[in-house]
Amino acid sequence: MDLGISGKRALVCASSKGLGLGCAEALAEAGVNLVMNARGAEALEASAQAIRDAYGVNVVTVAADVTTPEGQQKVLEAAGGVDILVTNAGGPPPGMWTDWDREDFIKALDANMLTPIALIKALVPGMIERGWGRVVNITSVSVKSPVPVLGLSNAARAGLTGYVAGTARQVAGKGVIMNNLQPGLHATDRAEALDGGAAKAQGISVEDAKKQRCATIPAGRYGTRQEFGATCAFMCSQHAGFMVGQNILLDGGATNTTM
Ligand code: NAP
Repeated sequence: MDLGISGKRALVCASSKGLGLGCAEALAEAGVNLVMNARGAEALEASAQAIRDAYGVNVVTVAADVTTPEGQQKVLEAAGGVDILVTNAGGPPPGMWTDWDREDFIKALDANMLTPIALIKALVPGMIERGWGRVVNITSVSVKSPVPVLGLSNAARAGLTGYVAGTARQVAGKGVIMNNLQPGLHATDRAEALDGGAAKAQGISVEDAKKQRCATIPAGRYGTRQEFGATCAFMCSQHAGFMVGQNILLDGGATNTTM
């Protein structure tokens, strides 16, 4: 399918690895020029070069922590006038409800709620002016089906989801289409770290911990960054113009729900 976005420009945050990289690759395959971001410059430049070599698109890199005001300023300087925004950042740490105080919540809200909102507020006015734009926020299955140990993530991402629900409907008539993409378990560094944590907690091998977690997914496996990226690219395409304020769940069927 021709996604109809060749020649457009996208900012993909937190995209040197994992799900963000999957989104950057799929957009590049559709002919989209990129601004890619991550904190670590080396992995970021390596991923950017691999994308330039594979797809021949223009890729600008910004090594910065996108959850800080200084990082956002650097990213926005490079990304002014983009047509497509994909927001993403690392997720907050797991714990018990008694573990977290105000500062922990402020940090999680900054990273996973207020950072995407700041980027939306900075970049969507230009999209409205040009009469076309796409925003995809990488959130989590934890919005639909909260994960008890991820209380910080559950809270911050639910807040972003509420904001997007209203905002998407305020901008849809101006040609800007905004939705959230909710990953379930995907084979990324983050998933491997969680496998390692589960193995340690239960005194079992990482392989067995992974098998246990795969058994909870009807598809019988983790998702791939390529599958995730392809869905994101579709949500950024010309064909997604009637998809407004939705939460698209990619979890291999793990969440047992009809809606
Ligand atoms: P990952 O494999 O650990 O990759 C994270 C990427 O984001 C890396 O490129 C990392 O590079 C970059 N990054 C992290 N924090 C950043 C920051 N503050 N500023 C700029 N770049 C940053 O993670 P992932 O699995 O792709 O997960 C992406 C998001 O989806 C996370 O919020 C995660 O909680 C959520 N999620 C993932 C899964 C899953 O199964 N993978 C499931 C549900 C939700 P640097 O470290 O160099 O900055």
